Amino acid sequence: MAWEAEKEEIVQAARHLLSKGLVAATSGNVSMYLEDADGSKLLAITPTSMRYEEMKPEDVVVIDFEGDVVEGYANPSSESLIHIAVYKARPDIKCVIHTHSVYASVLAVCGVELPPILDELVTYLGGPVQVAEYGFPSTEDLGNKACAALGDRNAVFLRNHGVIAAGKTMGDALRACELVERASQIFIYASSLGKAGVLPPEVVEAERSIFKMMQGTDT
Ligand SMILES: [Zn+2]
Repeated sequence: MAWEAEKEEIVQAARHLLSKGLVAATSGNVSMYLEDADGSKLLAITPTSMRYEEMKPEDVVVIDFEGDVVEGYANPSSESLIHIAVYKARPDIKCVIHTHSVYASVLAVCGVELPPILDELVTYLGGPVQVAEYGFPSTEDLGNKACAALGDRNAVFLRNHGVIAAGKTMGDALRACELVERASQIFIYASSLGKAGVLPPEVVEAERSIFKMMQGTDT
């Protein structure tokens, strides 16, 4: 089996998401950017409609940027086009995770941006988590709208749907998922007290510089 280590990492990430309650049943999907020996751009992605408890590395599918299967027997995630759109728009991103985690989805349903309320939101994600315009599931349009709202940051809400989190490594993408969910919960609770204050602009600016340096996009 080709790309065995990468497929194993994807399955482990999916199980981690499940253990943290960030995905349920077959919702959500995980991918990793790959390059073929000839330099062709590919990605390995979780299969559609398979429970995470049962998923094995051989179930992970390798597809090209057209969405066509290059290797593997299963059908790729129905949201493959969002993953492809992110890799096309952001060469610095190597791993993408999509979840329907609860608190993030509350903000996505309400169309409420997650402002820079915590330092790590800016240093690890690059700033506020914006809400993409609504796009129909599984379409290229949804991917394009997600990328427009993602900008140079590492997380975005999909309106009335869920969240996309990304990173240079699978560890970064997992941390982004957990951070968005935790910060969304804190923001919702703080807002219920009427006191959700944001970081001062100069702090956000300084922390964005740290984010860009860590992301390698500060040139
Ligand atoms: Zn979804």
